[in-house]
Parts: sequence; C-alpha cells; structure tokens
Amino acid sequence: MTEQEPAIAAVTAFWRALGLPGLIDVHVHFMPANVLAKVWAYFDRGQEGSGLAWPIAYRLPEADRLAVLRQFGVRWFGALLYPHKPKMAAWLNAWAGEFAARTPDALHSATFFPEPEAAGYVAAAIEAGARLFKAHVQVGGYDPRDELLDPVWGTLSEARVPTVVHCGSGPTPGAFTGPGPISAVLQRHPRLPVIIAHLGAPEYQDFLDLADRYPFVYLDTTMACTDFMDRIAPFPGKLVPRLAAAAERIVLGTDFPNIPYPYLTQLDALARLNLGDDWLRAVCYFNPARLLGL
Ligand SMILES: [Zn+2]
Repeated sequence: MTEQEPAIAAVTAFWRALGLPGLIDVHVHFMPANVLAKVWAYFDRGQEGSGLAWPIAYRLPEADRLAVLRQFGVRWFGALLYPHKPKMAAWLNAWAGEFAARTPDALHSATFFPEPEAAGYVAAAIEAGARLFKAHVQVGGYDPRDELLDPVWGTLSEARVPTVVHCGSGPTPGAFTGPGPISAVLQRHPRLPVIIAHLGAPEYQDFLDLADRYPFVYLDTTMACTDFMDRIAPFPGKLVPRLAAAAERIVLGTDFPNIPYPYLTQLDALARLNLGDDWLRAVCYFNPARLLGL
C-alpha cells in the first residue's frame, strides 16, 4: 500500500494540526462482500444514477479498507449498511453484528426496512449493542412515515440511538426524499436522534432548519462541499454562516470507501469553509464522540 503513503501523511497532518487524537467518521460503509459488489456495480453505471462518472477510490478487499482507515487515524467509524428490499435487513444486521465483534473500532451498526418484523429485530439489534442505524429512504424506496416504522422510531428515540438517514433528494431523488416525510416523523418523535446524511443535499436549508427545530437532529458532512458534490448540488455560500451556527450539530461523514476522490478531499472541503479550527475540531471529533458516547 505504498502508493497510499503521501495520502496517509496528509490526512494525519490534518488532525494533528488541530491537536486531535484522530478522526471519528460516522458515515463509512461496510457490508457483506456480495452486497458491496452490487453497490460498486451501481456506481460503475454512474450515468444512470447521478449522471456523473463515479470511480470508486477505495475498491479494496475489506482488510485493506480497514487498514487504510486506521492508517488515516480514523479512531471510530460507522459501518453502515442498508437494504433495498424487504426480508434483507435482519440478515444484514446479523452480518453487522459479526463485523462489529471482529472490528473493535467499528461502531456496531444496524438497519431496518418497513416490514412487520422491523420492530422486533431493531430492538434485538440494540440489545446486541448496535449504537448507530442507517436508513436509506432513496435506495429503499420507502416512506419513513410508514406505520410499520412508527414503533422502530419510537424504540430508537427511547434508546437514544441515532440513525443516519439519507433523505435528501441528492444525488438522486426518490418518491419519499426531501424534508417533508422525515419532518413528519420528527413531529411525532421530537426527541429522535437522527443524522441527516450529506448535510441534506440538495435541500441544505430545509434540513438546517430541522436541526434548529429539533434538539437531536444532526447533519453529516458526507461528500458535502467537495467539488464533486458542488457540481450536483452546490452548497450555497449564503448558508455557510448557518454551518457555523449549527456547529454542535455537524459530524464528519465521508462515504468511504464509495467515494470518487481521495479521503483528504472531504477534509479539505471542510477546511476551506474557513469556519475555524474550533469548528473543525467539533465536527471531526468532539460532536460525534458526544453523540455516540465515545
Ligand atoms: Zn453513504
């Protein structure tokens, strides 16, 4: 992995200069190999999704992906996975439990789908130690207001376990993406901890408003403000002060390994917002540490 060495030096220099012990990246994906292969095949067909070529920068075997994260100094990372159809989430959760057991720096992650078994397997996953969930409203094609999910949101709210929710309409809109459906869920479960993926791209303002309204709404930085994302869903300069105001609600996410650029690109994108070192320290370490009890 010698070709990674300059990249490793640049990433570790970033957090060392901030005086941090490393990074906490809430939005990283680890999945069973056959599922990840399907995700990569989807990105390889980039044109039909985002309309952009999407070369996966870290298309590596699992052990090598873990090694890269550790060499970058990512102390904790999500291991997010999600189903695109029914009868799949419980199996994914079983894999995720095994993965977490053999990967001490991975945050034990889990997922769900609107199906009658969801309330039961979500409670079981929390019981087994899951501390981070993922809901992909666009890929799953479901309505987060589905009544089969109401007990799931209730359980997650009571347990104070956050869910990374991909509910913005970028890079590809779905029938239930956008701020409306998830806002209705929060109206019913106002203390539900959610992490809006991709800063809510492209509906940045609406999702920042949601963080103002609800005390446990966070936003992850995944892909946001990079040149790549700014071609699809530019982050409006007039909202940069809102990122400063929401400093305690923003957490580092990257989408590693499924990114079309080096890991450092995300860190550079955050640094060039010019919100200061305290903001970067909060986002890259202290906010996720507090939210996840690390
Ligand atoms: Zn993702």
